[in-house]
Amino acid sequence: MSRRRQIYEGKAKILYEGPEPGTIIQYFKDDATAFNAQKKGTINGKGVINNRISEHVFTRLAHIGIPTHFIRRLNMREQLVRQVEIIPLEVVVRNVAAGSIAKRLGIEEGEMLPHTIIEYYLKDDALGDPMVAEEHIAAFNWAGHDEMQDIAAMAIRVNDFMCGMFAAIGIRLIDFKLEFGRIYDGDYSRVILADEISPDNCRLWDFTTNEKLDKDRFRRDMGGEEEAYQEVARRMGLLNGEDNSPGEVLDMDAHRSRLRTPAPKPKK
Ligand code: C5P
Repeated sequence: MSRRRQIYEGKAKILYEGPEPGTIIQYFKDDATAFNAQKKGTINGKGVINNRISEHVFTRLAHIGIPTHFIRRLNMREQLVRQVEIIPLEVVVRNVAAGSIAKRLGIEEGEMLPHTIIEYYLKDDALGDPMVAEEHIAAFNWAGHDEMQDIAAMAIRVNDFMCGMFAAIGIRLIDFKLEFGRIYDGDYSRVILADEISPDNCRLWDFTTNEKLDKDRFRRDMGGEEEAYQEVARRMGLLNGEDNSPGEVLDMDAHRSRLRTPAPKPKK
């Protein structure tokens, strides 16, 4: 049996050479890291769920005309995607203050931002992914002017679409991170959406309770991350009735009831 060639191993995914030129297989791991890999752990079943969630989101984005690298899901943990030349930027879109912007600018977490903000970070683990301005991106030629216009326009469209998609299932989209890549067609290149979209790279809060349904549960040692990821998949309709759904399906109610301290006994 021939072993397929591993191209790259990242924190949450492994990339293998695909079955035909220009394709890649993305394998979703259960490994979780935070704070530039200073904190490491696993979230059981995360890879299976993120594979499904990302498939769902990328498929729906393609339906509204966003070009993406997604081709098709292959199995529980793998999807076939187009090979791209990755643009070395992390594109963060924020609707509500949380995480690093709340800390950096002293804004209370949960405060609605005056308008949607797009930030760019250089993808460089050794430097800790520093935030960069469009001036830096242009000066160092990480992406061209036209590419940046396409990236910003796509980021806003993805945000509008995802805000609505998550609102329909009672989830507020606080912020998220996107990555883009180039595909070449002769002398021309075009920018498409790459990587993944999942609770690993989005902040998702329950609309009514503000409960966190994303990787912040892992980052902040809150517990219940497996259940939170499953809750997102469940609300998206990705768990019920699926014969290839994760074997063990827990839900937030089960988790909460485990955490809940017993109610005081009524006085006689
Ligand atoms: O930490 P920060 O507030 O800057 O994160 C903003 C958003 O980008 C969050 O949704 C987070 O999950 C995502 N992010 C990511 N990968 C990084 C940094 C941030 O997915 N390396």
